[in-house]
Amino acid sequence: MPSAQAPHYYEPPVFISALQIKEKIRVLGEQINRDYGQQEITAICTLKGSVLFYTDLLKELKMPIKCEFLGLSSYGNQTKSSGEVKVTLDLNEHLDGKHVIIFEDIVDSGLTLSYVLEYLKMRKPLSLKTAALLFKPEALQVKNLTIDYLGFKIENEFVVGYGLDYAQKFRGLPYIGKLNP
Ligand code: 5GP
Repeated sequence: MPSAQAPHYYEPPVFISALQIKEKIRVLGEQINRDYGQQEITAICTLKGSVLFYTDLLKELKMPIKCEFLGLSSYGNQTKSSGEVKVTLDLNEHLDGKHVIIFEDIVDSGLTLSYVLEYLKMRKPLSLKTAALLFKPEALQVKNLTIDYLGFKIENEFVVGYGLDYAQKFRGLPYIGKLNP
């Protein structure tokens, strides 16, 4: 029989609060609205970690938006990048002649985002920009990676919450937390 007591979940300490995220997303939304006006964009969400960032930021945007999802896997259950990027779910629409923005949860080594950029460039978009909620400059391993719309620069530490998991846990946290060492 299920216990009547609520289960006790470990809640990582707050690193970036829900309010700070909300305010940052509002600012990023303003920037994107200013840059694109009423031009249609194709907004690509990388799965799965970017889902909350993507949906919250989309609510701020005023132009027509085509939503696309790109499934990627690079981490398994480790806290270190495997360096290997695999497409697990492909786009539905062509990108030919489209203004594309790719939405990424976090740029760590940068391998995933640079792989995705090359992958998308082959599909000949009219323009291609990047939005990322978090960026760890110290961990970056690739050159010439531009993040056009950036939320927060953070130190080289493993974070969870707001879509980001550790072994599928913590994705639903409304804030970014630091995992205990
Ligand atoms: P990169 O290829 O830039 O090293 O890593 C990109 C992907 O690794 C992100 O989309 C994310 O899924 C995962 N990742 C990188 N750093 C972190 C982190 O601090 N926490 C979590 N949960 N995932 C991370």
